[in-house]
Amino acid sequence: MSPVFGLKISVFATFLTCVSSQILPNYLTPTDIIASRSVLPANYTPPYVFQQTDIAPKYASAKWPNGRVPYTLDPNLDASDRAEVAKAIFNIESKTCIRFVPKSTSDINYVNIERDDNSPGGGMAQLCMVGGRQWAKIKWRVAKLITHELLHTLCFHHEQSRADRDKYLDTTAQGCNIEKFNDPYNEPYSTLALLYDYVSAMHYPCDNCMVAKMPWVGDNCWNADDGALSVLDAEKINIFYGCTDGCHEYYFRTMTITPAWGREFLIYAGYDPVSGDTYYVCRAYHEGNILVGRTTPRLDGCTVAEFGVEYVKPAAESEYMVNPWNRVPLVWKATSAGVTSNNAALVALKAIPGGRSRIRWPYYVGKCALNIEGRTVYLVGRVETDGRLWAPYHGKEHYCGSYELLTCGV
Ligand SMILES: [Zn+2]
Repeated sequence: MSPVFGLKISVFATFLTCVSSQILPNYLTPTDIIASRSVLPANYTPPYVFQQTDIAPKYASAKWPNGRVPYTLDPNLDASDRAEVAKAIFNIESKTCIRFVPKSTSDINYVNIERDDNSPGGGMAQLCMVGGRQWAKIKWRVAKLITHELLHTLCFHHEQSRADRDKYLDTTAQGCNIEKFNDPYNEPYSTLALLYDYVSAMHYPCDNCMVAKMPWVGDNCWNADDGALSVLDAEKINIFYGCTDGCHEYYFRTMTITPAWGREFLIYAGYDPVSGDTYYVCRAYHEGNILVGRTTPRLDGCTVAEFGVEYVKPAAESEYMVNPWNRVPLVWKATSAGVTSNNAALVALKAIPGGRSRIRWPYYVGKCALNIEGRTVYLVGRVETDGRLWAPYHGKEHYCGSYELLTCGV
């Protein structure tokens, strides 16, 4: 092949690249968003898509300032891949204050979301904001994997790399290489004082080399076909990025480490008719589920129920729900039969997720009044995604047909 011919080919190839990048711009368009609608609510219109906002200052911190992540898309991602990217971004944005914005000319720091068929595993991404251009490489071009890689971009490491993971996972089976579950950067990795989350989008699937120690978890690790964030994933992003907008500022804190000021902002949910003690919202692990229940100032722990039985979980394993300085406008909304009959209806009501089932379904926070043993008692418990409330009282689990749902009033 003559050099001249070779040059022509090269110019032609450059021209082709040019054309294809004009057809598919390096940010998401309405076509991409519409193509991702199989998981988007019909009324979801992301305001960020076309904004070319001003530069954010480059901080020394590795966090993306204000949760704003400028991005570009690799021209090798086809229309179907781009719809999966849109789903992944929706997974993150719909539950947090993070916003992925098309890179503007003044943005210095940004992530290029790129196809890489040679990535080990399903893909890889640089952790946190690196400075300048960085990459999130996608091999399995599906929302589940893309969500996972973008969470690395946001600074989150694997759940099974947590410093406390040996309390939750058995990695000692013969012939297993546990090195691959360890933090490759040897950096201290904060748990953000959150419960260990087997179903996090950042947890590898459990197998014979990584066995859940908690009963009933089994192989329900990660376990989200659409890549949606778990309840605790959303909380950890909102805490880490200090999301203060709208409904994101409440949190759950282990009772033994909740500061005194935090206890002034617990969520009141009724009282004990005999002792007069006030009830507050709490949650605790029970056999793989994170259940919503009640606590009182006298009680050292969280009272929850499952399969008909009430359990009092110790304080070290229980968390208070806290709404610092009451910044989230929490509202108890009365519900009637059928209004909360599925998860979409609960999300539309802005129900606050308090816990989750061992297979990843969110549990919302609810309270009700029942007549038990001849007197009115007040119950606090979990609202499941079929709209039913289950709550502990006097050793048993009770069901309430009508109840009040804890929601965000914005
Ligand atoms: Zn990963």
